[in-house]
Amino acid sequence: MADEYKPGDTVERSGIYRVVHDHNHTQPHEVTCVYGKKFPPCNHCGHHPRFVPVRFAQHIEQNEHFKR
Ligand SMILES: [Zn+2]
Repeated sequence: MADEYKPGDTVERSGIYRVVHDHNHTQPHEVTCVYGKKFPPCNHCGHHPRFVPVRFAQHIEQNEHFKR
């Protein structure tokens, strides 16, 4: 597990991530990212964002009690 991820990296664990952009266009904020997808580039600062794990939470469709 890395301490932070960048656009193009694969999400290794679903959960909430703090996104740090180029500070000239927006402040850091949190998003939910899902296992297996790629962290996307930003529409405004491209590959600048860094995604830092805040709290992991399994996607419900991958959870043994709910997946089909
Ligand atoms: Zn941005």
